Amino acid sequence: MREVPIGAAPLTPYREVFGDERLEALRDRAGEVSGALHGRTVWNINSTAAGGGVAELLHALLPLARAVGIDTRWLVIDGDTEFFAIAKRLCTRLYGAPGDPAPLGPDQLQHYRVITELEGTALAARVRPGDLVVVHEAQPAGLVDVARRLGAIAVWRRHIGRDEPNEHTEEGWAFLRRFVENADASVFLTDSACPEWAPRPHIIPPSIDPCAPKNMELTDEQTLAILRCTGIVAGEGSSLTIRPPVGEIITVRHEAVVVREEAPSADVPMVVQVSRWDELKDMAGVLRAFLDADVENSYLTLAGADVVGVADDPDAGRFWDECVEQWKALPVEQRRRVQLLCLPMRDLRENALVVNALQRHATAVVQKSIAEGFGLTATEAMWKGKPLVASAVGGLREQIVHGESGLLVDDPYDLATTAKLIRQVLTDPELAARLGEGARRRVDECYLPDRHLSDWASLIASTVT
Ligand code: UDP
Repeated sequence: MREVPIGAAPLTPYREVFGDERLEALRDRAGEVSGALHGRTVWNINSTAAGGGVAELLHALLPLARAVGIDTRWLVIDGDTEFFAIAKRLCTRLYGAPGDPAPLGPDQLQHYRVITELEGTALAARVRPGDLVVVHEAQPAGLVDVARRLGAIAVWRRHIGRDEPNEHTEEGWAFLRRFVENADASVFLTDSACPEWAPRPHIIPPSIDPCAPKNMELTDEQTLAILRCTGIVAGEGSSLTIRPPVGEIITVRHEAVVVREEAPSADVPMVVQVSRWDELKDMAGVLRAFLDADVENSYLTLAGADVVGVADDPDAGRFWDECVEQWKALPVEQRRRVQLLCLPMRDLRENALVVNALQRHATAVVQKSIAEGFGLTATEAMWKGKPLVASAVGGLREQIVHGESGLLVDDPYDLATTAKLIRQVLTDPELAARLGEGARRRVDECYLPDRHLSDWASLIASTVT
């Protein structure tokens, strides 16, 4: 087990986003929590310091929590190859997929327990009675009981939006439930993600960081310069540097992999979907709906992470290839209106800036998911004030208020309605502006880190006695 050092975030950039009053409210709330904690520490435990949504969330949230005076720290567990193979298998089964065919039987349980006990010894050297220990996800879940034995208050947090109940999830829960059902509290992203046996459940949706490269403000000039430099929009471009409000300078210099007839010029209204190349994101469905919408002088960009070298997503290449084949089969006048992109991944902060620029440049954003836990990409686009057309699945149903902060398509397979709504937002600028404003407001109210920290404050207040 090792500790990930975290400093306090600078508060000035957040003050600019939240305003004085809201930041002071957050500080007051944090002050109450510190009072309730009485010098005790809030420990976060997960399985990696980099890569993956949990790490990204902790990197964004913990420095801000420290900045407002909450003593929070971060530990990452160790384990051998066998342990992580078992943990991966467990996560995949919980997600509803068979994954590798190896079992999750008594031998695996025994090995999971051995590693958990070893990590528990390392935890005992740090945690004091009365501390709050937040255990994230399945890999370190065994530490919930260890923390309680140490006299700490243990909370288990699940980060997956929803698990498709089937025989695989049942097998996963049969393995995991014993480790988490005695927690002092548990946290889920949405109501639909919460099993009925969850101990003292709290619903805390995630947040996006408005000061991170993915969501920071960009001027129109910066947006265009990023898109030109990466070859996404027509025009001369050269490498450029951007200074985000938090963290080091970023240089944008790598080109995206593009499949297209011609680059879109900057003034053509662009429809965008940014997603992993994955069956559940239905990029090919977006392509068909966009062409069916048939709005003159509009352009579609389908963008995902580079499919080469994405070790944890071996299927991405297949879905990219399928989409390229569908594009190739189109008549040339349709091909001319669509580009398929793999965004550069060599530097993740550069990649985040490119996603940011693409979402900002979009006239309308689509999220035509077949299933979705909590749609982060949708939230990111909404924060940028974009009118969104999304499937009414999973967390998207809760994130978007239909007609106010976006447009929802009830049936994710309903291409005709998707096409009709894309057409509406492209041809009715007043509607697009109203939805965009509503989207920004919705994220401002519900999905920024101050709301997120405040939810944690309530949980801590109700759990710490
Ligand atoms: N994303 C990214 N770079 C890319 C493509 C996607 O950083 O090239 C991000 C996207 O901005 C979002 C996340 O990947 O933050 C996807 O999260 P979401 O909840 O939308 O879908 P998931 O992939 O978790 O199913």
